[in-house]
Amino acid sequence: MSYDPNNVFARILRGELPCKKVLEDTEILAFEDIQPQAPVHVLVIPKKSYATLNDFCEQASDGEIAALIRGAHRVAKARGVEQSGYRILVNTGPEGGQEVPHVHVHVFGGRRLGRMVPKPPESVSKTD
Ligand code: 5GP
Repeated sequence: MSYDPNNVFARILRGELPCKKVLEDTEILAFEDIQPQAPVHVLVIPKKSYATLNDFCEQASDGEIAALIRGAHRVAKARGVEQSGYRILVNTGPEGGQEVPHVHVHVFGGRRLGRMVPKPPESVSKTD
């Protein structure tokens, strides 16, 4: 997946599209997901341009990587789910369900989140 500089998160970072900001520092921006799937659903993104987690892990500095994961924890704390529990998720590539080609961490919380990954329908199981 190549980096498209006009993806929605790049446009949010440039201020071309609005977002509901949760927190921001020099490395990261965290904002509310536009279609929340839980009472807390926040996206944390690095400010630099990485399309996927693969690119991020291969090209970002240790400091950038720490800032992103710490950003997810700071979001959980800021939104009051640090102790009740929460989930972070990074969809990567087509089978990982990634839609926006700017690496992002989802932070979900505020309810019981259920199964980590839904069971596939029998017909599409790769173990068949
Ligand atoms: P992915 O499937 O790539 O892991 O998740 C992309 C997420 O970005 C989805 O949860 C989707 O609702 C969210 N999203 C897509 N477009 C926008 C937007 O313009 N603003 C915000 N705040 N979230 C968006």
